[in-house]
Parts: sequence; structure tokens; C-alpha cells
Amino acid sequence: MRRPQRRRGWRAADFDHAAVRPFALLFGAAVGLWFPDIDQTVPLLDHRSVVTHSVLPALLAALWLPRALAAGIAMGVAVTLTADLFPERWVGFATIHLPLFGSIAGASPVWLGLNAVAAMAVAHRCAGLRGAPTTARAGTAAWLIGPDRMLFAVTAGVAAVYIVLGEGKLVPLAAVLAVWVAGRGMARWAPAGGR
Ligand SMILES: [Zn+2]
Repeated sequence: MRRPQRRRGWRAADFDHAAVRPFALLFGAAVGLWFPDIDQTVPLLDHRSVVTHSVLPALLAALWLPRALAAGIAMGVAVTLTADLFPERWVGFATIHLPLFGSIAGASPVWLGLNAVAAMAVAHRCAGLRGAPTTARAGTAAWLIGPDRMLFAVTAGVAAVYIVLGEGKLVPLAAVLAVWVAGRGMARWAPAGGR
């Protein structure tokens, strides 16, 4: 029996016009960059909480939101977790905190790295892994703004603004690009799911 074919690429119902997608990605990215730090305002969560500084917000976005928006949010989370990998020192609130138990200390960079890659994998999944966007009218436009290319361009742009302009650092930008590649790899072998 044939398995039902999983639809790739963007959903027409979400963002029909290809020109809208970069903005959906950008808006999502802004939300994703900011979201993990809501732990500072949520009771019971310490800053750099394991709950919000994780792949969880990306997964929830993928479950509940339009794909282009979810892709942006997941990517924003991935970028902010990657930026969090470069504190001045791994002490205090630079480390990841479990509710009630406190800091996971030395495991923090491992946690952040793995979850950044996983969040980026979610972004790749939501953006569609290969092929032209299903709703693009023109072949040339499809080639230029296919999901992979677009996710890469927006990720690089967002990371450049957030990390290089925002924090004056260059190394984390390279780390974001590595996370983009690793997330792409993870998205390819992760079990099919979602919509
Ligand atoms: Zn944070």
C-alpha cells in the first residue's frame, strides 16, 4: 500500500503569494528571537530556563501555526540559542536552569547546541526541504526564492543583525551558519511528521 504523500513546501492556504513568505519568516524570527527570554517574566522559571531555552517553542509553533510563520519562529529560537552559546563566562544566568533544581552548569552549552540544531531542523521542516515552492507561478521566481534559499538568506540576515550589530560579535554568526547546516541534516533524517 502506498503511503500518503507528504506535502512539501509551503501551503497555499497559509501564504499564497511567494512575496509574503520572507515577511512571515522575518516576523516569526523576531518572535522566536525574543521568546526564550520570556522566562524572566514567568513565575517559577529562572532565566535561561530549560523550558524556553529549548526546541519546545519551535515544536509548538510547528504544531499550531502556519508553516512560514512557524519556520521563522523556529529559526529565531535557533539563532537566539546559538547566540546564548557565547557568554562572557559560563556562570550564573549564562547557564541553563531547571525549574526548582537550579543550574545544569557544565551541561548548558551541550543543551543549547543540541536544541539550537533541533530548532533549526524544525525551521527547515516547516519551510519545506526541497523543491520549488508549490505556489510560485514563475519558474525563475521559484528558483530564486525556493524555501531552502530563502530560509538561508533570512537566517543569515537575522543573525547578522541580531549578533553582529546587536552584540558586536562575529564568531556566533559562523556558529549560526553551522547550526543551519546541521539543522538541515537533522531535518532530512528525522522521522516524517507534522503536516
Ligand atoms: Zn536567553
